[in-house]
Parts: sequence; C-alpha cells; structure tokens
Amino acid sequence: MPQHAPVRLTHFLPSLLLLTGGLVAVWQPVLNEFFTSLFNVLPTLLLLLGGAFCIGYGRQRELFLLAAVYLGYFLLDTQADHFRATGRLLAQGPLVFHLCSLLLPLLYGLYGIWRERTHLLQDGLARGAVLVAVFGVAAALARRFPEPMLDWLVAVRWPALEASWLALAQIVYPAFLVAGAALAAQYLRQPRLLHAAMPVGLLGLLLMLPQVFTRPGALNILTSQVMLIIVVAIAQEAYLMAFRDELTGLPGRRALNERLQRLGRQYVIAMADVDHFKAFNDTHGHDVGDQVLKLVASRLRKVGGGGRAYRYGGEEFTLLFPGRDIEACLASLEVVRQAVADYPLQLRDKSSRPTDHEQGRQRRGGGSAKPVSVTISIGVAEASGARRTPEAVIKAADQALYAAKAAGRNCVRTQGMNRRGAVRVAGTKR
Ligand code: GH3
Ligand code: MG
Ligand code: MG
Repeated sequence: MPQHAPVRLTHFLPSLLLLTGGLVAVWQPVLNEFFTSLFNVLPTLLLLLGGAFCIGYGRQRELFLLAAVYLGYFLLDTQADHFRATGRLLAQGPLVFHLCSLLLPLLYGLYGIWRERTHLLQDGLARGAVLVAVFGVAAALARRFPEPMLDWLVAVRWPALEASWLALAQIVYPAFLVAGAALAAQYLRQPRLLHAAMPVGLLGLLLMLPQVFTRPGALNILTSQVMLIIVVAIAQEAYLMAFRDELTGLPGRRALNERLQRLGRQYVIAMADVDHFKAFNDTHGHDVGDQVLKLVASRLRKVGGGGRAYRYGGEEFTLLFPGRDIEACLASLEVVRQAVADYPLQLRDKSSRPTDHEQGRQRRGGGSAKPVSVTISIGVAEASGARRTPEAVIKAADQALYAAKAAGRNCVRTQGMNRRGAVRVAGTKR
C-alpha cells in the first residue's frame, strides 16, 4: 500500500455499511429463521475461512484480531445461551461479561496496531503467548478471587460520569478510548482499508457488548459483522495488491490482461512511454523519477473519449478505448500528451518542500528554479482486419510508438502513419 496515501472517506465505507447492516438486523423485532441460523454459524465460519486465508498469506495481525474477537464471542455466547434458556445468569456470568468487556477492546487494539515482524513464526508465537497470558491470568484470578475482582471491575470510579445509558462498567470505557485512539492514529499515519476497518470493528464491539443479554441475536450478529469487516478489508486489500499498481494508483498489468479478455470486436489500444526517462532518472534520482511517473499517471487517468489508463510496466502505460475507432480517440490522446508536456515540474530539494497543498500549488507554477518538462510519446492501433487479438493490437501500437520516438518524441502516431505525420495530431516537438 502506498505510504502516503490520502485519508479517504471511501476507506470507511465498506466497514460502515457492514456495521449498519448488522445494527439493522439487531434492531429487527423478529429475525427470520434463515438469518438466525446464518448468524449462528457465521462467526465460526469466518474464523475458519478468514483464519485459513490469513495463515496462507502470513497475515498474523488479522488472524489474531479474528481470534480475539472469536474468543470473546465464545465466552459470552455460553453465558447468553444460558440466560436465554433459563432467564437467569450463571453464577460467574457477570464476572465473565465484565472481564470480556474490558479485555476485548484492549486485545483488539493491541493486535490492531502490532505490526508484523519479518519472522512469522516468532511473530505468531508472541501474539499467541499474549492471548494465552491475558486470558490465562484473568481466568486464574477470576477463579481464585471472584468477588473482589467483580467489585473491582464494576466499581464506580467517576460518580460524576455515571449515566444510565452507559451500560458497561466504567473501567471499560477508557479501554475502548485507548484502543480507539491508537487505531485512529494508525489510520491517520497510514491510511489504508484495513486500518480504516479496525476502528469501525472496535465501534461494533462497543455497540454489541451492552446488548449481549438484552437483545437476542445481538452477540452473534455483531460479532459476525465485526469479523466480516476485517475479512472484507483483507480481501479488498488483496484485490488492490493484485490489480492496482502501487506507485501510480492506476490499474496494473493484471487488470489490463483481464480487461483484454472481454473486449468486443472494436477497440483501440494506445501505448504511452515517457521520453528519455532513463536520463531523467540518472540526472535527478529514482525518487524524482517515481514522482514523474505519478504525475504522468495522474494526467493519463483523466483521458477522455471513453478511455481507461493502465500501468503496463516501468514507464510504459496503456490506454484502452473499448468500442471506439481510432479517429474517435486521437483527439483525447492528443489532449493528454499536451497535458503532460504543459505541466511545469519544479524540482526542489526535499528540505524546501512546501508543507501544505496550497503552498505547493502556488510554487509549482512560478519560482526561480528552472522548470523541467516531461513528455510522452504515444503509439495507437485499432482492432481491424488482420489485427483481431489484443496482443496483435498491442504489438501494432508498440510499432507506432517506435515511430513516434523516431519522429522526435512528444507526439502521437498511429500504426502505418508516415514520418511527416499524415495524421493531423502529430505533436509538437520540444
Ligand atoms: P525513450 O525516450 O526512448 O523511451 O528513452 P527512455 O530512457 O525513457 O527509455 P528506456 O526504456 O531505455 O528507459 C526506461 C527507464 O525507466 C529504465 C528505468 O530506469 C526506468 N524505470 C522503469 N520503471 C521505473 C520505476 O518504477 N521508477 C523509476 N523511477 N524508474 C523506472
Ligand atoms: Mg520504455
Ligand atoms: Mg521511455
């Protein structure tokens, strides 16, 4: 995931939707049989499926998050089942409930911010040891000193803050606050889907606990949703890793290959390549080169005419126009070529980098440093006659790209176009 990806509301959307769905289900007066049975098995199913996925891909952090939530569910479910069947709590019921309420957010927060170390086995053992130690010590203490422990848990420490709607023991709220702050800080430091899902999951736990005994199904439904929030975030991140290019944020080669499988008879493919990029890298360094690739990607992403940009690899990009013919695409390609060429890139040392966006925008236009311009060359071809397969069209677009380079770069060429530029879009040279 990109280190400095921006904070986005969309990161929270899937988790918030899942949580809202769970709350709606909890608030139904009667939940139909299908959903009741589903939510009865969902926590276990998610632990098995999500756990297998996490083990397969070495995602210890998420594995232990799921395990901690499931353990809390398991302990509370025994109590809730008995309460539902008999109308009375088991003798140790209140102690188990308040202990779970306190330990669950703390463990959840700890596992959430505990980054994976390189050695997976050691990492897993350390996390497992924490789980066993915390629940082991708590269980031993609860067995030995049940009453003093319960008194300690439910003690009113801050009478001024006591309110009837605060259904959990007072000590539980600071635990949620600490865990929530740690997870929120982690998201702000590194905004990504999983880091957004974790605090929403914590909120789910906070909403679930007061309803464990009062609303049938609340425990099963909200535990399922919290686990689902984590599993969905893992799946979404895995998808992004496979299909999206990390540096530029454009869909990558795999996404392109998949899209090429389902094209109709008519389409246009353009290959774009940054001019003299090797020299640029050698002069200004690889990190500035990376910034240039991001800039080029941001312009290509805006291509009109129904086109879509992909990072083909290195400093090459593909623009795909499904259902279009070449004439319809040339103007759009010319616009993006020009947009890249017109962007004055102000190179500055890192120490003098502006701190805010607005300042950066002002400086990009002016300043005393000589602006560097980056250009791209584009080769275009369309599916036709002999060129039926996407591979053949890409090959033809590549040949057109060579022609664009040979014609002096910073221009668009179609396959079969002569050097002088029989097509009106031939770009201006630098
Ligand atoms: P031309 O105008 O003919 O395209 O010349 P060029 O120098 O751009 O062409 P060439 O293919 O020789 O150079 C491509 C360079 O792109 C080589 C490599 O150093 C650089 N490159 C490839 N991928 C990345 C990347 O992800 N980041 C950076 N910074 N550089 C990359
Ligand atoms: Mg190249
Ligand atoms: Mg190049």
